[in-house]
Amino acid sequence: MDKKQIDWGNLGFAYMPTEQRYVSNYKDGAWDEGGLTTDANVVISECAGVLQYAQTVFEGLKAYTTEDGRTVTFRPDLNASRLKDSAERLEMPAFPEDRFVEAVKQVVKANEAYVPPYGSGATLYLRPYLFGTNPVIGVKPADEFQFRVFCTPVGPYFKGGVKPLTLRVCDFDRAAPHGTGHIKAGLNYAMSLHAIVTAHEEGFDENMYLDSATRTKVEETGGANFLFVTKEGTVVTPKSSTILPSITRRSLLYVAEHYLGLKVEEREVPFEEVKDMAECGLCGTAAVISPVGKIVDHGKEICMPSGMDEMGPVTKKLYDTLTGIQMGRIEAPEGWIVEI
Ligand SMILES: *Cc1c(COP(=O)(O)O)cnc(C)c1O
Repeated sequence: MDKKQIDWGNLGFAYMPTEQRYVSNYKDGAWDEGGLTTDANVVISECAGVLQYAQTVFEGLKAYTTEDGRTVTFRPDLNASRLKDSAERLEMPAFPEDRFVEAVKQVVKANEAYVPPYGSGATLYLRPYLFGTNPVIGVKPADEFQFRVFCTPVGPYFKGGVKPLTLRVCDFDRAAPHGTGHIKAGLNYAMSLHAIVTAHEEGFDENMYLDSATRTKVEETGGANFLFVTKEGTVVTPKSSTILPSITRRSLLYVAEHYLGLKVEEREVPFEEVKDMAECGLCGTAAVISPVGKIVDHGKEICMPSGMDEMGPVTKKLYDTLTGIQMGRIEAPEGWIVEI
């Protein structure tokens, strides 16, 4: 397979149309057989449920080339089941989980020329999503839906080296108790845009959201879960019903326990405790882990002992082990690596 002539190392995180994408439509209570198309445009009613009442959910995962030249994706079954949970919460029909994985495979295969080579640091980002297509003007769920998967090559996350992030404790809330914080829905991102734009204007990289009920416990950022490392070397991640269950975070916890022999805890993390942590990182598909160097709470700075120049030692070990598993340099747990 001839790869596209792309400067992989200098790609950013931006949309570049590729050749084929997968589409399936839901009508009269059933999904059609679906298939690939070259048409990158979606034509729907001006009154479609997604446009009026934001009835849409999505996923994000990557395909990449392993050290021994295989094209693979990482745990796509977990994306399939999370999309199902998200869809059900927004009164949308789930896309069958086995067909989800099949659709992802078809899209990667059809765009293999866009899968970056091993060692480039770049990956092929896949975006599965599901939205209401028929006209809805009174508030109710749509009854026709479209499921799509497109892909776009994205560059290495840590271009020019790792740079620990500076966060601010955010005055806006991300998710209400019993709300939609635990599903991957566009609506959670729409309401985070003002918070991230103002954070950037004030010189911060990201927002740390606290629980909206008490504003005392750490939740997550707009698009990544927290991992902390205590001074005793325990890996701690916040437990909350209003954070998005990150697949990267779940995988890192497994790696911490079963590959690195570390103690792991999933529990409430009072913000008060953050100043006593040794390391802090953000986990998600895009970066795997980005280290956090500083957290600013209304002018009061918490500087992580790991500093502003590099990842902390435990964060680095977690990062190296999980990326090693993904790239085929370290043996993966059963079922984690799905070959195309
Ligand atoms: C997607 C997402 C994450 C990261 O999840 P991964 O499965 O690891 O990519 C974390 N938080 C939010 C709010 C997200 O939408």
